[in-house]
Amino acid sequence: MGVEQVGLLRLFHEIFLKGGNRSLFVRQALHNLRRALQGTGLQVYPLTPLTAVVPLPSDAHWEALRQRASFVFGLELLSRAYRVPPRMDAILEAAERLTAQRRFASFRVTAKRQDKSFPILSPDIERQVGALVQTKTGARVDLENYEVEVVVTVLPRQAFVSMGEERLAGGIPVGVSGTVVALLSGGIDSPVASWRAMRRGCRVVFVHFHSFPLVEGTSREKAQDLVRLLTRWQNHSILYLVPFAEIQKRIILTVPPSHRVVLYRRFMFRIAEALGQAHRAGALVTGESLAQVASQTLTNITTIGAAVQRLPIFRPLIGMDKQEIIAQAKQIGTYPISIIPDQDCCSLFVPRHPSTQVTVAEAERLEAGLDVHALVQEGVRSAERKEYTWPEEEP
Ligand code: ATP
Ligand code: MG
Repeated sequence: MGVEQVGLLRLFHEIFLKGGNRSLFVRQALHNLRRALQGTGLQVYPLTPLTAVVPLPSDAHWEALRQRASFVFGLELLSRAYRVPPRMDAILEAAERLTAQRRFASFRVTAKRQDKSFPILSPDIERQVGALVQTKTGARVDLENYEVEVVVTVLPRQAFVSMGEERLAGGIPVGVSGTVVALLSGGIDSPVASWRAMRRGCRVVFVHFHSFPLVEGTSREKAQDLVRLLTRWQNHSILYLVPFAEIQKRIILTVPPSHRVVLYRRFMFRIAEALGQAHRAGALVTGESLAQVASQTLTNITTIGAAVQRLPIFRPLIGMDKQEIIAQAKQIGTYPISIIPDQDCCSLFVPRHPSTQVTVAEAERLEAGLDVHALVQEGVRSAERKEYTWPEEEP
């Protein structure tokens, strides 16, 4: 074995706490990584229980690994390393080559001697490597305030020398928490909520309601663009586009304007729950945040949620304020799509100041004049199903 460039990946620290389920989490994370690396030619090899190694044939492969791995939940750190035989001369040579690639004023060396039969103790590895790097680069050793850290890891048949690490997405590998249905509007909040559910290991099926052709089709386009973007974190997505105009027309016949938004939502949630059955979904996810708008008072959230029969409703943003949500949307990349002006179907036939206090009893009374079951079935039946894959399959 000669000197080989590799990417070293460290899995999310929380996976370490999973006890008997740990191997399941690790397998899912590596499976998701392999899917994300499709088309790059890169291979993934488990190294220790919480690390994996990806050999890098070229610099271009490093860029591909960085980019693709950043979308895989369950991975925490990535560093570029040399893999060498577990001998001191090879380690020193790798440290010299690695530190010649970058200028820095101060550094420290950390040795992790995981093979306890390696003849040189960690403090001695650190001293030898430190002395060499100091001589070759002129940088000074600073154990506390270092600019770069050179890490030497010695395993039974191989050693790694790395410098600098990048933080990846963290979180739980998509798939281990099962499937959820996210209600995705074209707005800022629900894409962030969906992303947060993915980061806790959920596979997300998306449902978007639109009033096209009653209003122009921008929100449909936005929902599709958002799903295309969010698919990078879960490799594959399904989006249901549900035409809502006909259902709304029925609702407005009997429901006063002040109560319509809450009623619209109750139908949306029911249809989303019904669509989730085919996917064995275990929860609904929304972008609701307490007190943000009229439909999100405690009373209205309760009344909307009461329409859902079987599933719990997850509201990952419930305690976040708008500025925090916007910051996260910018970080994920959904923000520029979300702020494109559109006409949300819920603004149709509703007053500027809808009721903040629609009780469950009132909603049920208003729905008594509607064939709820038939309307929900109509929504399910007319849903248009779209699929997205990332990275896109090669032709
Ligand atoms: P968002 O920014 O996600 O639109 P919001 O703060 O505008 O959220 P509301 O418009 O009150 O809040 O919607 C609350 C939640 O209901 C949304 O976060 C979303 O989960 C769901 N929702 C609203 N409109 C739609 C829609 N047209 N299609 C699917 N889900 C919707
Ligand atoms: Mg909205």
